[in-house]
Amino acid sequence: MSLIELPLPDSAVMNARDQIVRDLVGICGEGAVISDEDGRRTFETDALTAYRRMPLAVVLPTSTEDVAAVLKYAKAHGIKVVPRGAGTSLCGGALPAEDAIVLGVSKMNRVLELDYQNRFARVETGITNLAISAAVAEEGFFYAPDPSSQLACTLAGNLAMNSGGAHCLKYGVTTNNVLGVKLVTMDGE
Ligand SMILES: Cc1cc2nc3c(=O)[nH]c(=O)nc-3n(C[C@H](O)[C@H](O)[C@H](O)COP(=O)(O)OP(=O)(O)OC[C@H]3O[C@@H](n4cnc5c(N)ncnc54)[C@H](O)[C@@H]3O)c2cc1C
Repeated sequence: MSLIELPLPDSAVMNARDQIVRDLVGICGEGAVISDEDGRRTFETDALTAYRRMPLAVVLPTSTEDVAAVLKYAKAHGIKVVPRGAGTSLCGGALPAEDAIVLGVSKMNRVLELDYQNRFARVETGITNLAISAAVAEEGFFYAPDPSSQLACTLAGNLAMNSGGAHCLKYGVTTNNVLGVKLVTMDGE
């Protein structure tokens, strides 16, 4: 089997790694940045494990404002950013580059609002698919699009991949069940 060739990293960005890590800590706080080798290795691949690349750094913001600030910073300094949910993508979607920051949303996992009358839930993007169903189960509800990775995969990944499962034959895939998103562009807007 021949693997796809991955791009060579930008040496200027690689050389600036220590400063980039310090800047990310300045933006999101120390607890949100993973820069040591063992920690970064966790994020070197997704479920397509044939490909691996150690990311420059990993940042796990806890708010939309921090996501925007990281993207604004990365844009200003010409640094690539790879968004990541749970890394269950089977097609390398969350595969990092060596000169890229991985921006993971796993700490943004709260349920913000439940409106049973209108069959509506507002959640943060890093919540796992199954956690949405768990949050409304007591009232006899469930979140319909159900990829078989639902214990681990996040709504962020579901949105990016338009995921679905067995329930989708009746209820539609992710796009048929999402009313709106608050999103940050790669420019940080
Ligand atoms: C065992 C197993 C079973 C699976 N079963 C199914 C199934 O039944 N149906 C199905 O559809 N899929 C299935 N999948 C594939 C995978 O689980 C889905 O694609 C899932 O939606 C990915 O979610 P994730 O949180 O893991 O996303 P990730 O793998 O982390 O990311 C997926 C893509 O989304 C992008 N992304 C992530 N977060 C963001 C964000 N905040 N903003 C912008 N882009 C973002 C990433 O860059 C990447 O390109 C399965 C995978 C596994 C390993």
